[in-house]
This record gives sequence, structure tokens and C-alpha cells, in this order.
Amino acid sequence: MAKRVLIVGAGAAGMMAAIQAGRLGANVTLLERNEKAGKKIYITGKGRCNLTNAAQGEDFMKRIVRNPRFLYASLAALDNNALMDLVEELGTPLKTERGERVFPESDKSSDVIAALRRGVERAGCAIRYDSRVAELTVQEGRVAGVRLENGERLAADAVILATGGLSYPSTGSTGDGLRFARDTGHRVEEPMPALVPIETKETWPGELTGLSLKNVRLTAWLVGGKKDKKLFSQQGEMLFTHFGVSGPLVLTMSSYLPEDLSNVRMEIDLKPALDEQTLDARLLRDFRELSRRQLATVMDGLEPHSLGMKLLEIAGFSPAQPVNSVTQEERRRLEGIVKHVPLTPAARRGFDEAIITRGGVSVKDIDPSTMQSKRTPGLYFAGEMIDVDAETGGFNLQIAFSTGALAGMNAAKEELA
Ligand SMILES: Cc1cc2nc3c(=O)[nH]c(=O)nc-3n(C[C@H](O)[C@H](O)[C@H](O)COP(=O)(O)OP(=O)(O)OC[C@H]3O[C@@H](n4cnc5c(N)ncnc54)[C@H](O)[C@@H]3O)c2cc1C
Repeated sequence: MAKRVLIVGAGAAGMMAAIQAGRLGANVTLLERNEKAGKKIYITGKGRCNLTNAAQGEDFMKRIVRNPRFLYASLAALDNNALMDLVEELGTPLKTERGERVFPESDKSSDVIAALRRGVERAGCAIRYDSRVAELTVQEGRVAGVRLENGERLAADAVILATGGLSYPSTGSTGDGLRFARDTGHRVEEPMPALVPIETKETWPGELTGLSLKNVRLTAWLVGGKKDKKLFSQQGEMLFTHFGVSGPLVLTMSSYLPEDLSNVRMEIDLKPALDEQTLDARLLRDFRELSRRQLATVMDGLEPHSLGMKLLEIAGFSPAQPVNSVTQEERRRLEGIVKHVPLTPAARRGFDEAIITRGGVSVKDIDPSTMQSKRTPGLYFAGEMIDVDAETGGFNLQIAFSTGALAGMNAAKEELA
């Protein structure tokens, strides 16, 4: 007799779990609280859905920030190449862009959702919308089904929880699955916003709101110990906002910061391509050419005007200071600020601005080779609700697809006790 598999959540992980379980002959029902599937997928990649990353092997694994080893079996079940083949086979052609990021050729996330929905239908699975699961039913230690919010009970041989994390709760991911996991005795690592903008103690970034910086280096340090520890250092783009900093570099950095930010310091190198000597030579030349002008003019040649003026202020200069009055020590101070703009993180922004949730169901309570709970037989986990997370670039959706696929395959062949 076909296994009855209930999947909670029709996001990336849940739909992929359904496709795989259905293809293996299980009797699958997907339960989704929203009126449609894939609401979060719709907003991914700024509406274009960066569904995976084409990096291979170690290049892929090193972009997974927490618990990469937990993913070996999932990625073996459905890696990025297999995902791309599957989505194309389901009628959505793909393309690979800068940084190996993979998008639908149409640049429409809705085409990725359409492919997944076709996969779910072709695999013979049912989807029930407006069906919010309120509770898991467990009998004699084994999962037996679910109870919906409206009181209806559904029986199953296996249940896959794929309810997502806590970020962008308007898409339906409000942490229900984490509650079900806790209620059934699973350990849950404290959820925290990740890939998220950072508020700074300094208020001056607010005066530069909207200014974006390209090709700068952002470094974060943990201070206060015997030796400062470098937490992150990468080159790329970032942005000043009314509360602090955002943009690709900052989001990535946020994943590498400890929970407690009080001993973290950040620094922007505005000219990473110039070492101190080259920058000094450049400034000396500018000072000679502009010797009868004011410092503001020199800064205008180096940085956008608003930033240049702010740097002068931070370093204690007047923009009107005549260039020919700048001493060698002052020139070095100016160079110092260009290479080391100091910033102090005050807080992460909230879940409603976080691309993903860090934390979730502990990997210690899940068998990585099947995605089955080690505590409740018949219960499986998939996607963002597990304590695994990665950098931006398509890695997080791939994690959802891979863990979903493995959970679906194993739930379908679940051995009944
Ligand atoms: C703005 C934004 C942009 C992003 N861009 C990218 C990107 O380009 N590339 C990338 O790799 N990642 C991106 N991500 C991250 C990515 O979207 C997630 O990692 C991924 O969607 C997680 O998939 P999931 O299936 O685990 O969870 P979700 O996609 O969150 O799906 C969970 C589903 O479960 C449903 N659900 C929840 N509770 C219940 C319940 N009690 N009963 C029934 N249904 C329930 C929800 O309604 C939802 O449909 C982005 C995220 C955001 C917020």
C-alpha cells in the first residue's frame, strides 16, 4: 500500500519533497496555510529567483556558513546540477550569471514556482491551500498525522515539516514548525535574523542614506580578547541607510557575526586597491596639483562629495583648510581614515528585513542521511527551519531543495513499525 505522506508548507523545500515522494509512488498531500504556493520564492532574487549557484564541490561548500557537513547526503540526493536539470525538464529554462548565480531565463520567479507546481502535479500529489497545521499528532512516540487550525485531523505514515524560518513573516513563515519541533522534544537553536542589515552606534551613516559604495573592503573584528580576531573581510558593494549599513557585503558579513555584538568592530577600506604607500603617493600628487585649493577639493577627487566631507569631519579637519597648510602628519591621518573608516555595530535589523533565519531545529536531532527526526519516528524536517544557513548567491534555496528532496525520498519509503 502507498505510504501516506503529509508535507507541511508548500515553499521550496515542501514542493521539492512532494515531487520526490510522489515520484516514488507515495500518496502525498501538501498542506499550505496561504492561498497559493511559494509566496517566498516569488520575492526571492528581487523577483528573479536566484534558485541555486553553479559553483562546484568545495567552492559551493565553503559558502555554507553553519553545519555544511550536515548537507553532504542531501546534496548527493539533489545537487545544484540535478536541480537545474529538473527545473528545465519541468519547462523553465535557466541561465547562469556573474558569481555563478542561476536564474530563470525569463527573470521571473513565477516561472520557477510554475515549474515546481508542474512537478508536484505530475508526481500525482494533492495540494490543499488555506490549510494551516496547528499541531502534530504523535501516537506511541511515532508521528501519526496533523491537526489543522479548523480542527480537522489528517492521518499519515510520515509527516515532513517544511514550514521555513521566521524571516519575512508576511510570506507565511512564522515559525510554526519550530514550535511543533519543540513540542515534540526537539532541540531548537535560538533563531536569529541573518543576511540582514546592521544598525550602527554611529549616527553619521544616516546622513549619507542611499549612498552606495562599490569595490570597498569591509572587515569585522572581535575585540577585547588577548588578540583581536578577524571575523570577516571581503571586498564588494555596500550601502549607507538611515539606521546604519546594508547591501551585499553587509548582509554576508552579518552571517559571520556572533550573537552578542558588543565586542564587534567594523572597518571600511574605501581604497582596497591602493596600499598605504600608493595612496600616499596619490595624495602627495593631488596636494601638489591642488596646493592653492581647499581640502574639500582633494576629497572630491577621491570620494563622493557627501562621504568625503564626512571623512574630513571624522578625522577632525575643516573642509576649508588650505591644502598647502596640511602637514605630513595630517596627510597620514587623512590616509588613515580613507583606509580605515571605523563603525560599531549596535544591532541586527529584525526578521522582517532578514533574508534568512539562522538557528532552527538542531542538526543533532536529525539523521543527515534521511532527514528523519532522531526523536520522533516518521517525522522529517526540510528547508530553512533546520539549523543550516549559507551566504547569498542561491545557496539557501539549494539547501531547501536538497533537504526537501532527501526528506521526500525517505518519507516515501518509510518502513512502518
Ligand atoms: C527577500 C528575500 C529574498 C531571497 N532571495 C533568495 C535568493 O535569491 N536565493 C536564495 O537561495 N535564497 C533567497 N532567499 C532565501 C530563501 O527564500 C529561503 O531560504 C527559502 O525560501 C526557504 O525555503 P523553505 O521551503 O524552507 O521555506 P519557505 O519558502 O519559507 O516556505 C515555508 C512554507 O510553509 C508554509 N507554512 C508555514 N507554517 C505553516 C503551517 N502551520 N501550516 C501550513 N503551511 C505553513 C508557509 O506559508 C510557506 O509557504 C530570500 C529570502 C528573502 C526573504
